Amino acid sequence: MIEILSPTQLVRAREPGALVADILQTLRSRSAVGTNLLDIDRWAKAMILEAGAVSCYVDYAPSFGRGPFGHYICTSVNDAVLHGLPRDLVLADGDLVSLDLAVSLGGIVADSAISFVVGDSQPAESLALIDATERALAAGIAVASPGARIGDLSHAIGSSLRASGYSVNTQFGGHGVGSTMHQDPHVANAGRPGRGYTLRPGLLLALEPWVMADTDELVTDADGWTLKSATGCRTAHSEHTIAITEHGAEVLTLPRVAN
Ligand code: MG
Ligand code: MG
Repeated sequence: MIEILSPTQLVRAREPGALVADILQTLRSRSAVGTNLLDIDRWAKAMILEAGAVSCYVDYAPSFGRGPFGHYICTSVNDAVLHGLPRDLVLADGDLVSLDLAVSLGGIVADSAISFVVGDSQPAESLALIDATERALAAGIAVASPGARIGDLSHAIGSSLRASGYSVNTQFGGHGVGSTMHQDPHVANAGRPGRGYTLRPGLLLALEPWVMADTDELVTDADGWTLKSATGCRTAHSEHTIAITEHGAEVLTLPRVAN
């Protein structure tokens, strides 16, 4: 089912978007050498509950994961790229961290992910991975407007990732958002333009390019959730929730203050 929000709902969708952006930026600023992933999860939980929002993750039990997720945020470090289950791990200098957060507020979901490097060591390879996902995300957003097709977005995202020198894995990608986290239409991170569902005002989409430095193959960690690069190489992930409006696309999960 594809949900189309009313103009009033679209205005209300800004609230979960701003909350997710604020929480992610706060977690980014607190994450440093010595931070434990379980602390990040606790901080996320506290901020979600304080805002009166509902976690989309804690009870989430899809076919691709092992039982309910049981945590409030995905924390994927270095070779981990998606669905990183928070664990007792202390961040070290140069670690590449991806945080992915989805919450529901007022009955509407927002979903966003950021990647960054902690500490003084900022490896060029890691920064290039992050830059590639951010640019691919921007490329997808740039073509998102009423009348565009889902394939146009997929093509823009995939072309950007490949232009940055990375192969594209299409096992997991973007999706519709609304009263629940994962809805149709699926937005693959590569595809052919001019195909698929035609965007129209009121549609919320989460676009989420992710890359792995030297492989397109994923493996599942022994925890049953965390997806990692098959080669152990570093990875990155960037995601925004956007609203299709009469005028184009509004990014709902933009941070208010740039880091
Ligand atoms: Mg997400
Ligand atoms: Mg998502």
